[in-house]
Amino acid sequence: MRRVLIASLCGLAVLSFGGSQLEAASKPAGPANATEWPLHGGDSNEQRYSPLKQISADNVGKLGLAWYADLSEKGQWQSTPVVVDGRIYVTTPWSKVYAYDAATGKALWKYDPKVPREIAATRLCCNNSNRGVTFYNGKLLLGTLDGRLVAIDAKKGSKVWETRTTDIKDDMSITGAPRVGNGMVFIGQGGGEYFQRGYISAYDAETGKFKWKFYVVPGDPSKGPDHAASDSVMPMAAKTWSGDWWKTGGGGSPWDGIVFDEKTGLVIFGTGNGAPWPAEDRSPGGGDNLFIASIVAVDAKTGQYRWHYQTVPAENFDFDNTSPLTTTDLVIDGEKKHVVMQIPKNGVFYVIEAATGKVLSAKLTVPFANWLTGFDKDKNWAPILNPDSNYGKTKQGWYVTPFQTHVWYPQSYNPNTGLFYVGLRYATFGFVSELGAKMGNQLLGINIAKRPEMGPPPVEGPGQWLSAWDPVAQKEVWRSTEGVANSGTMTTAGNLVFHGTGQRNFTAFRADNGEKLWSADAGASVQAGSITYQVGNTQYVAALAGQPRAAGGNRLLVYKLGGTVVLPPVPPPAPLVVNAPANFGDAATLEKGQQLWQQNCSLCHEGGRGMGGFPDLRYSALLQSDAAFKAVVLDGVLTENGMLSFAKVLKPQDAESIRAWVTKLANDVKNQPAQTFQGPGAGRATPSNAPPAPQKGLHGG
Ligand code: CA
Repeated sequence: MRRVLIASLCGLAVLSFGGSQLEAASKPAGPANATEWPLHGGDSNEQRYSPLKQISADNVGKLGLAWYADLSEKGQWQSTPVVVDGRIYVTTPWSKVYAYDAATGKALWKYDPKVPREIAATRLCCNNSNRGVTFYNGKLLLGTLDGRLVAIDAKKGSKVWETRTTDIKDDMSITGAPRVGNGMVFIGQGGGEYFQRGYISAYDAETGKFKWKFYVVPGDPSKGPDHAASDSVMPMAAKTWSGDWWKTGGGGSPWDGIVFDEKTGLVIFGTGNGAPWPAEDRSPGGGDNLFIASIVAVDAKTGQYRWHYQTVPAENFDFDNTSPLTTTDLVIDGEKKHVVMQIPKNGVFYVIEAATGKVLSAKLTVPFANWLTGFDKDKNWAPILNPDSNYGKTKQGWYVTPFQTHVWYPQSYNPNTGLFYVGLRYATFGFVSELGAKMGNQLLGINIAKRPEMGPPPVEGPGQWLSAWDPVAQKEVWRSTEGVANSGTMTTAGNLVFHGTGQRNFTAFRADNGEKLWSADAGASVQAGSITYQVGNTQYVAALAGQPRAAGGNRLLVYKLGGTVVLPPVPPPAPLVVNAPANFGDAATLEKGQQLWQQNCSLCHEGGRGMGGFPDLRYSALLQSDAAFKAVVLDGVLTENGMLSFAKVLKPQDAESIRAWVTKLANDVKNQPAQTFQGPGAGRATPSNAPPAPQKGLHGG
């Protein structure tokens, strides 16, 4: 719930990496060649770049729909398809896999891992998403929402092997795509706010046999070593923690960005935020809290530690550092460097030497940040933290800027233009610490309903955009304010960048200068990474369009030049009508209801909020019936729609208190116009009457 919150080429030195790109394209673990998309990020470098150029900046205006497939599951749609041997594979909510003929759209098979729906009540922070499969030697590798890793025969759709990567007793989940390399498969998990200790683990890709595990944060020191690959560095990490951190887990869950780097033989992965969120609560008195909010590199064969760079020591702001990672070669100061690049939630673009972890440059991509005041270049570009922002210690609260700049939405890098394409957000969000405060089952350590007494800093300029960033010069070369933060990118040798724009458009831009060349109504928002491939003599572009409560449904869309298929029209949204009983409940019931609503429901259901597309409950007919309301809230009858049972955290009388409070909100609507929620997803500062506080910080952009 929480995570779904929200130039020109002249003068640019165009670097040519044509040779190394082709070399990289022919080597990955899958049968990669220019016509397929076998791995999650395209190739193992995760550049999401294709050398195909039948579809180009000159003719993309003729792109049309070749075929589409309706998909009926409900939830979040985050899957990057893969294509091998003329078949296209895509995953849907509840970790299902669908296979189609990539040229015709003929349905071939469907695999359902039968994820137990009841886990939704306890361990899913952010809806039932899956970001895709990856291909290895005739098999598709899938991570399931309940923590399993499954290999599926790519031709038949039957299970080859299955292994459990998390303890079923733990409230962990997998939404990310497995990565492969060296004959091994690598996977992390989410669940940092559920009293968890994150880790990444490796398995034999042929058999599913366990190979190694690397914990992100140290465990209970009284229990001794873990007998894991991380044992050699956990004592070092433990020195950066204080208090009884292991009792709340510490967090650090590596839930998305992982790259297997063929050149160095390293697995490089991003780690999640610390948990609970205020550093002072999880590690009283200070400490960097290794290895949360970091990029960590381990030997792919053994899992042994090689290097780390902690982007945000003593992290306070849900700054997961799990955004995708991309490797490439860059020429910096006349010297060829093999680098890994990332732009995470904290707003900074990092270029790091892949073999050593030496930071080559770090640059703020948005106009202003107030969690740091600069970088200490003598300490490998460690950020200089703003002490005023340590709200767990100051007890003053803090509006952090930026917030959720780039989460999991795939990025791309085009070696021809030398540009990195990514959707960015410029926003702020207020944190108020409260020891032990939870949201549902999640220990956040902040009161999610409160905002700091000080006003938010001004957030000038556009709230979100598509950025074309030059990683060598560390500057933006062009931007499109039609772009959005919550959509991935893909780029091609046809001088194109594909990206979801607006509410539900799928759009192509010129890669070198950002000119908008083509756009189509996709029927729902395109959030996941799109791909391109060739079958026979035809190049195709494929994207998943979907969102919770998409009025026109969710689909896999496949385009080609001259395609003539037309989508059915999207029905207009149903008019909002208050359908509530008369107010009921005494003052104590309403107060309890308000408190529980803010703690458990408002993040997704606050009036008019775009986050996740959940309904505005003030207009719900369910308010009319105690039994119907409880059937949804406690029995989970709408679990398939993404509304998870809250039976583990709410009692029947709690549900009734919430119904009383929402009924009051509904009846209030009759006398006043609906208000639009202005939260972090809106990309603007939260309105406040208080004057903005004077700010130390760092200017960038
Ligand atoms: Ca998080």
